[in-house]
Amino acid sequence: MGAQQADQSAGQAEQPAAGPEQQVRDGFEKLYGAAPEGVWAAPGRVNLIGEYTDFNEGFVMPLALPHTAVAAFSRRDDGVLRLHSADIEGPVVELHVDELAPLTNTSWAAYPAGVVWVLREAGHAVTGADIHLASTVPTGAGLSSSAALEVVTALALNDLFELGLTRPELARISQRAENDFVGVPCGIMDQTASACATEGHALHLDCRDLSIRQIPFDLPAQGLQLLVVDSRVKHALGDGAYAERREGCEEGARQLGVPFLRDLPYEDLDAALARLSDERVRRYVRHVVSDDHRVDEVIALLDAGDVRAIGPVLTAGHTSLRDDLRISCPELDLVVATANEAGALGARMTGGGFGGSAVVLVETADADTVTKAVEEAFAAAGYTAPRVFLAVPSEGARRVV
Ligand code: ADP
Ligand code: MG
Repeated sequence: MGAQQADQSAGQAEQPAAGPEQQVRDGFEKLYGAAPEGVWAAPGRVNLIGEYTDFNEGFVMPLALPHTAVAAFSRRDDGVLRLHSADIEGPVVELHVDELAPLTNTSWAAYPAGVVWVLREAGHAVTGADIHLASTVPTGAGLSSSAALEVVTALALNDLFELGLTRPELARISQRAENDFVGVPCGIMDQTASACATEGHALHLDCRDLSIRQIPFDLPAQGLQLLVVDSRVKHALGDGAYAERREGCEEGARQLGVPFLRDLPYEDLDAALARLSDERVRRYVRHVVSDDHRVDEVIALLDAGDVRAIGPVLTAGHTSLRDDLRISCPELDLVVATANEAGALGARMTGGGFGGSAVVLVETADADTVTKAVEEAFAAAGYTAPRVFLAVPSEGARRVV
């Protein structure tokens, strides 16, 4: 994988460190005095298209990153759960499986411990474990480092304790750990991407019935790269915005007489908008219904092998998020505008908005130019330098040793 990524290097784009499996194995042995039973990995993700569509029971299209949480595990049968992260200063966290309780642990260990709790609540005999992990998924960039921790734990325990759970079930368990044990009300996208993605594909997820389809998205074979540009900002404005958008979307569905905005056909959008008197609700409805449609457009183009043509669809998605949903910010708008001016095929903010990251589709040959243009624009605007990652569509969670 290292060589493959080196070939695709965007020059400025950060690469995940190669060969973390051995480091995690060695770290485990040093901590716990014996080699682990195995080592597992689970990736972070980025969403290509379909934003604020999930709670409207619509569609999203994430892909797994080459950046992973790598974790060494051994079973225990005495109820003890020992957890350690190479990336966090501090001693081994020691818990007991019988004493795990929701919302009581505010440290990083709540993510893997939460998975143990959910499994045990569901009646699975998980009798303890020693865990040591390290992750190349950046935190705070909206790339779901938390889902990577949960999913790597769920898969490792599933294998070690022979629980026989499917990938989608592992995703649901991981989501429940984050919702109920950690206390973060996230949707199912992040964990599904981490658990179910396959290399060279984006994952089409129907947020109503949770069905998934692997969509060909082999960027290296096409001479293309998807850059993730972390704007390094998170505006406080975003705090109440999610709930407000959600309420506005529900109001739109109610006024239009559909259970969810997903149920409004794109062909009927204009007629539906004409029936809405509230300008704010009208904007939200237009974003959600058109973004579901953009997911369909992207799938049709990728199925036809016309990967370059998705660029303008991504940019249209950004315009919708900026002007209709109004969840962008000056930094993300600058990334998109600058990247497109510098020759990108298309770009959009991704994730919850008010900061976080943007995705930029570029010809591999243009990646350096585009990256440099964005960095210079940020410097000229007096913004903190952005971080740039290469989002090679990668495989989901797997056992590595
Ligand atoms: P995101 O999932 O978007 O990266 P979250 O706030 O949901 O951001 O999750 C980040 C949290 O996940 C961190 O604050 C930490 O508690 C935990 N985490 C992520 N990576 C690691 C790691 N390598 N070691 C320990 N904890 C981690
Ligand atoms: Mg998270």
